[in-house]
Amino acid sequence: MRHRTTRQLETIESVLQKAARPLAIAELHAAALERLPGLGIATIYRAVRELSDAGSIVSVTYAGQPQRFEWAVARHHSHFICHTCKRVFDIEAPLDVPLPEKRPKGFLFQGDEVIYYGQCRDCRKRSKK
Ligand SMILES: [Zn+2]
Repeated sequence: MRHRTTRQLETIESVLQKAARPLAIAELHAAALERLPGLGIATIYRAVRELSDAGSIVSVTYAGQPQRFEWAVARHHSHFICHTCKRVFDIEAPLDVPLPEKRPKGFLFQGDEVIYYGQCRDCRKRSKK
């Protein structure tokens, strides 16, 4: 049984690595099912917990959105939320975005996060038909 578990975990890992965008549990399950038919949702939850504990994936949460997970990459990137399909995409962001000039005194800023909104390519194509 050990072998099967490893294979499932590897598949789930690979789906997250190749997704290039944060995935909700349902999205991750759907993508993993294409490679491992019959894969249960409980296995997805277990794998996500293991990968989070190991620091391999991080959680991405926005108001009114399901919790999503993405591969923990060192690369700095921003997110784009499609208003139509609600999917979240990675957007390459330049490094060294200047920090705000008026920082609260004594605060150490260690990063920033920009969230873009709009309509993704798939949804734009669909709405043009
Ligand atoms: Zn969309």
